[in-house]
Amino acid sequence: MNLHTLLLLALLATLPPAAAASKPNIIILFADDLGYGDLGCYGSPVIRTPNLDRMAAEGLRFTDFYSAAEVCTPSRAALLTGRLPIRSGMCGDRRVLFPNSEGGLPPAEITIAEALKEKGYATMQIGKWHLGIHEGSRPLDQGFDHQFGLPYSNDMDARPGLPKGSTGSPNPPHDGWNVALMRDGKVVEQPADQTTLTKRYTAEAVKFIREKKGGPFFLYMPHTFPHVPMFASPAFRGKNRAGIFGDAVEELDWSVGQVLEALRSEGIAENTLVFFTSDNGPWLIMGDQGGSAGLLKDGKGSTWEGGMRVPGIAWMPGRIKPGVTSQLASTMDLLPTALALAETPLPKGVTLDGTDLAPLLFDSKPLPARPFFYYRGDQLFACRVGEWKAHFKTQTGYGQPKADAHEPPLLFHLGRDPSEKRDVAAEHPEVIAEIHEAVKQHQATVVPGVPQLK
Ligand code: MG
Repeated sequence: MNLHTLLLLALLATLPPAAAASKPNIIILFADDLGYGDLGCYGSPVIRTPNLDRMAAEGLRFTDFYSAAEVCTPSRAALLTGRLPIRSGMCGDRRVLFPNSEGGLPPAEITIAEALKEKGYATMQIGKWHLGIHEGSRPLDQGFDHQFGLPYSNDMDARPGLPKGSTGSPNPPHDGWNVALMRDGKVVEQPADQTTLTKRYTAEAVKFIREKKGGPFFLYMPHTFPHVPMFASPAFRGKNRAGIFGDAVEELDWSVGQVLEALRSEGIAENTLVFFTSDNGPWLIMGDQGGSAGLLKDGKGSTWEGGMRVPGIAWMPGRIKPGVTSQLASTMDLLPTALALAETPLPKGVTLDGTDLAPLLFDSKPLPARPFFYYRGDQLFACRVGEWKAHFKTQTGYGQPKADAHEPPLLFHLGRDPSEKRDVAAEHPEVIAEIHEAVKQHQATVVPGVPQLK
């Protein structure tokens, strides 16, 4: 080997491989009020979701995946920060932010978008925000380069004279709500034409993926549906035997299919982690437009399983081994997982409630055992340790003014009794003692944030 060859080899060793892929892209698809029982792959007998079923068959489907809260705003704050809402102040008596609320996600909170943007990720939020409309809390203030969607729920800002019962109607007036469609913080349509929202969100998402295919990118896509009032575009309207609720979920499923197909056709599916989940359980008081928690008890607004256990599907073909897992995980794990994939250190001096799911996703390793805490507003209502769940307080999602307190707590074994029907507290004082200890240790770490939902 001559000197020239040696020098050439030395030079080559210092260069990155020519075809090095970018850091992995991350996409979070987030349904609104979709219940545990509303997808084909979670047992719905009436709603057809071939794209999500395929995503689940090709990826990892969670049986025990949780939203961090029982309603919209706290749930979204927790997903983006990896922290229980009590820590950021994004919870309270008013339950969610309203158009006249003064609070919002505090600027000091570090979102997935902010952390990834630091690492050179292109970031976009498409869909419902619901984390504040004031300076400091809006999408472009919280790490997103671009935004397209609604500032809050599609049933807020009702127009004067809207007939009572319109929200849960099977045929709601399309101009009944004055909520605006916004792009990069500016109103582009008011009232937003809700019948084509899912279609337009999807077109934006596909466009973003194609434009940013060189990566890395982070797409956060919190859909407007199936939150009431329920709308679907003409191609989906009247097609499902479950009525407009089924139509809206089937259009959402179509949207997921379009996003995954864009990744496949651009050749970046193997380098993109996609996670699909829901912000809370089904809004049962909406009747036919309320969805289903399957065999789980209660729904949105409650800390029974139906309020917070939701579909959870991870997809990254060639990286995630297809399967089903009963490991306990939550939306608060998405921040540590995304940052680990991006080789970004966790935010310093911040108490996080999530853990990196990578060992489970990519190596089928069990996650560290950890308790899960169920808050309603700023109150701890229940705690799960292993298969055991203790309720210190219970209250149905909507319509029960005061919580019932339980001492000793109610105790259920979620393996043998997933519907929480048989309280076995009297037979297992040792389990209750263990759960009390977990709660004590947890509460010692909680410094409540300044309440934002006043
Ligand atoms: Mg919701």
